[in-house]
Amino acid sequence: MFINHELINSLLKEAKNATDKDIEKVLEKALNREQLDYKDIATLLEISDENQLSKLYEIAGKIKNEIYGNRIVVFAPLYVSNYCVNECEYCGYKRCNKFKRRKLTMDEIKEEVMILEKMGHKRLALEAGEDPVNCSIEYILDSIDAIYSTCSENSSIRRINVNIAATTVENYRKLKNKGIGTYILFQETYHQPTFTKVHGKCVKNNYDYHLTAFDRAMEAGVDDVGAGVLFGLADPKFEVLGLMMHNAHLEEKFGVGFHTISFPRLKKAEGMDLKDFPYLVDDGMFKKIVAITRLAVPFTGIIMSTRESETMRRELLKYGVSQVSAGSITGVGGYKEEQDGKEVDQFKLEDHRTPIEVLKSLIKDGYIPSYCTACYRMGRTGDRFMKLAKSGEIHNVCTPNALTTLMEFLLDYGDEELKLMGEEFIAKEIDKIENENTKNIVINNIASLKEGKRDLYL
Ligand code: SAM
Repeated sequence: MFINHELINSLLKEAKNATDKDIEKVLEKALNREQLDYKDIATLLEISDENQLSKLYEIAGKIKNEIYGNRIVVFAPLYVSNYCVNECEYCGYKRCNKFKRRKLTMDEIKEEVMILEKMGHKRLALEAGEDPVNCSIEYILDSIDAIYSTCSENSSIRRINVNIAATTVENYRKLKNKGIGTYILFQETYHQPTFTKVHGKCVKNNYDYHLTAFDRAMEAGVDDVGAGVLFGLADPKFEVLGLMMHNAHLEEKFGVGFHTISFPRLKKAEGMDLKDFPYLVDDGMFKKIVAITRLAVPFTGIIMSTRESETMRRELLKYGVSQVSAGSITGVGGYKEEQDGKEVDQFKLEDHRTPIEVLKSLIKDGYIPSYCTACYRMGRTGDRFMKLAKSGEIHNVCTPNALTTLMEFLLDYGDEELKLMGEEFIAKEIDKIENENTKNIVINNIASLKEGKRDLYL
């Protein structure tokens, strides 16, 4: 398989001898935007000196600004079913946990979507446990139809990313035909012995099948795939190199690697004790691996969920994060149940702010919260997206779209404070746009929004 355990172990071992000079050299290489190889990445993973860490964060921030600008994409997860045939040691939904399982009816999905739309969301990540009988692919396809067809007063969901268990080419083709955005699947761990250990006796416990899911998805025509590791299961340094090898494999075979990488850290869940996991990642290491990933794959989106605290998320935005969830609930039917005062999360969350609160904080920190979903609707997926990102052209499309969707949010969902600070912020951001044509497009779009038009994008 393409995750070469021996090579990773020997690179990590060798990197232990890296000198300050070796580290400086790699940082210099990253600063000059040269492609880092596995050895370079292993070397960076050894940084412990405070000055070098500051330099690493500074370079990660610089790369992020150059490529992504100050836009941050905002989304929310939607859990539709917690039926699960698996025995993942770390997960609250594992089969041996006895609680009343449920999957949402199409009407209940629409109800959840209406709540999410009222929160201003346009982009969802559909989540479900693995159960071919109780949560079949047909159920997922119907759920996608139900979500796309739900229209609240102002709007509808414009992009659905899907996070369901590894499946067949045929099923990926069905998802593709339904118009999904990114297909997301976390490898959980690239370390095969750990993968086997933490998944016990269950369907998911097939390392190779799980690892090759993106190959099948891409074969089926799904261009955008989103990877992730559940940090806390195995050595995080091993995982970073695993992610890089997986990405390189897809680049070689399909001409495009991961569209996004998510960074979930293990959290307390029902039926597991964090004490049983010897590789929990502390804050220092977590920041370091996010920043190193930014250097290693500058064009890949980095997603940070509400598993992390407000403080951690705000800090990581500086080092490379480009997408955040907001107002998330990780339980089936959770948005409605939260309104009724119940709590049903899959695992513990740290950031409980509403989208309005998240947006205020992003704007205060100088970021443009973006609800843009234009790329995939305009066919800018896979290598077409990457080409645009690599040429820098993306700024002329993404900034106007981000500002337009932010204004749409202000008009439809903003409270007085957000409207005031948002409008002032948008005006300043428009001033910064150098290209006159682009600037005029934004000004015209905003005027049209104020006249009642919606869903304007390039
Ligand atoms: N069932 C799908 C599968 O098999 O890939 C994925 C959906 S699951 C709802 C989404 C992700 O939540 C998992 O892939 C796992 O990485 C993460 N997760 C599970 N338990 C967790 C925990 N205790 N803390 C943090 N994240 C967890």
